[in-house]
Amino acid sequence: MELINGAEYIESLRSLNPKIYYKGKRIDDVTRHPATAPHVRAAAMTYALASNEEYRDLALTTSHLTGRTISRFTHVHQGIEDLIKKIKLLRVLGQKTATCFQRCVGHDGINATYSVLYEMDEKYGTGYLERFKKWLIRIQDKNLMVVGAMTDPKGDRSRSPADQPDPDQYVHVVERREDGVVIRGAKLHMTGAVNSHEILVMPTSAMDERSKDYAVVCAIPINAPGVTMIFGRQASDYRRDLRERIDVGKPSFGAVGGEAVIAFEDVFVPTERIFMDGETDFTGMLVYRFAAHHRANYGACKTGLMDVLTGAVSYLAQIQGTSRASHVKDKVTEMIHLCETLYSSSIACSAEGWPTPSGAYMVDTMLANVCKQNVTRFPFEIARLAVDLAGGFLATLPSQYDLESEEVGHLVKKYFSGVEGIPTEHRIKIARLIEAMTGGTALIESMHGAGSPQAQRVMIFREGELDKKIRLAKALLGIPVRQDKK
Ligand code: SF4
Ligand code: FE
Repeated sequence: MELINGAEYIESLRSLNPKIYYKGKRIDDVTRHPATAPHVRAAAMTYALASNEEYRDLALTTSHLTGRTISRFTHVHQGIEDLIKKIKLLRVLGQKTATCFQRCVGHDGINATYSVLYEMDEKYGTGYLERFKKWLIRIQDKNLMVVGAMTDPKGDRSRSPADQPDPDQYVHVVERREDGVVIRGAKLHMTGAVNSHEILVMPTSAMDERSKDYAVVCAIPINAPGVTMIFGRQASDYRRDLRERIDVGKPSFGAVGGEAVIAFEDVFVPTERIFMDGETDFTGMLVYRFAAHHRANYGACKTGLMDVLTGAVSYLAQIQGTSRASHVKDKVTEMIHLCETLYSSSIACSAEGWPTPSGAYMVDTMLANVCKQNVTRFPFEIARLAVDLAGGFLATLPSQYDLESEEVGHLVKKYFSGVEGIPTEHRIKIARLIEAMTGGTALIESMHGAGSPQAQRVMIFREGELDKKIRLAKALLGIPVRQDKK
């Protein structure tokens, strides 16, 4: 592997020049534009960590395809240890960035695709996996960032892809050529898209027989002709002006992942980059495996974020002189408890991992769904406690301009000070960090990323083995089990 570090990753993006729009204007350089640069820096941390001796074992591993050292974010899990190390890595990265570092989506796409292609080839003799391996070896050796592109716009949700009045509401093949296919459609909410090197397109849901043109998996360079991205707006993004470093809350990294629409306007995909084309019966399995991997992650990255939030609140309590109050300690304890509960389910679904026929390991899907379901709740409760402890000044704090003003700066410093000896600026910085982590766009990802809560509830009910549980209750009471009628 080219052991590129964070700076080299950032440099590698500059020559790509993908077509990205933000607030109606084209972005020339994602690494320097104030809207996208923080997200680039967060993703760069996934590269930088590999150079840190303390984390090398988590950040790097050995490719089962080449035997070479690779980034874990390009690895196909070969055992439970891999699954657990990934979780530990994500928590560390969450702690270092306090935001989404984006690279996990492509990683999960790689893992789900790899295992499903093996089973598809077994059934149809299609040979997709060998193609995919060739593509993957390049990703591993060059240490590229891949955006896993799954979520289609979906148009009228009551209709299947083939029945949409506008067929482009789901990505689909519009033309077949001897040397490849042409695709059209879009993917929404694409985390890390604008600073990735490649797009791994996958179907968004299980497809029926009539939707063959929609059952497509393929890899597309981010700057391929016909690919256009529109970067999403986030709360307080106007604060990203360089002069508002304090008010932005997290000056180095973004509030959330940095999501974009990716539109495919008749994009040509050569044959060697097509990994599924019409095998509708494997679409459900692919979505299911991808979702499970991604849901497992959330109890790790978000725990890292919540570690930072807990630390921020605790420090604020110290410099406000409230840290010894018993109710403060109790609320901080609750924050820690919720954090560690989130993390437990990430570890648990990894520890209960299992090998697919390809040898690639899957997480336990029930526990992964439980993990993500927790993430739709606990970060909100942790945020509530953080806001409670921080105090109302989170919402009334004067701006950085006033803090630095010659006329009124001395008033802000005087009246927003805390315990003696601590610069007021520190208290304001911490408050802005808490504000950024608890408000605006920040928590929405915990709710809807990796699937909205209802998506997990459907899986939890489906995998809940209710029949088995009913039999347990009956057996205990001596009610005959054999006479059961559903
Ligand atoms: Fe990774 Fe978490 Fe961001 Fe998903 S939300 S890409 S798991 S950091
Ligand atoms: Fe996400």
